[in-house]
Amino acid sequence: MQIRGRNLELLIPEAQIKEKVKEIAEKINQDFEGEEILAVCILKGAFIFFSDLVRELKGKVYIDFMQVSSYKTEMESFGEVIFIKEMSEDIKDRNVLLIDDIIDTGRTLKALVEALSLRNPRKLKTAVLLDKKERREVDYEADYTGFVIPDKFVVGYGLDWAEEGRTLKDIYMVV
Ligand code: 5GP
Repeated sequence: MQIRGRNLELLIPEAQIKEKVKEIAEKINQDFEGEEILAVCILKGAFIFFSDLVRELKGKVYIDFMQVSSYKTEMESFGEVIFIKEMSEDIKDRNVLLIDDIIDTGRTLKALVEALSLRNPRKLKTAVLLDKKERREVDYEADYTGFVIPDKFVVGYGLDWAEEGRTLKDIYMVV
């Protein structure tokens, strides 16, 4: 398979993603037992992971969306987080679970957590499906992580390359 003239190599098949989403949800359900959760989707890349994950959460779940951008070029991190769409819910005294597709340098999630902490949530946790651990530039780890992956650009399951590849069911490396 190809995107924009580059080959895609399968990294994580759909079935493994499904299992992992359930595993992550189990941990979250244990940690938040009996509590309400406001699940916040970081658009656009997390939208499929978010949809699958929130349906595995028990108890009362509210949802919200926000969009940030940290990318200057198509495949390169810039390091600065720009808020494109603000969330609509008030998070004061609430249990907030930020859900993102991937943590790379860590700058996006770290900046988001710092910004949202100022609004005094009761709890503020982060969940990511993918983690490019070796690329970290700031001291930040997500509270819930699916797969640690190599330093390769990936697409599929919500993740794009210049808006292509988001709807692929599996996750692929651009090679
Ligand atoms: P960070 O701030 O941790 O460097 O970057 C996180 C964001 O970069 C993710 O939310 C995602 O939008 C983007 N990103 C990082 N690596 C990849 C990748 O391999 N593929 C895609 N599609 N986006 C990536």
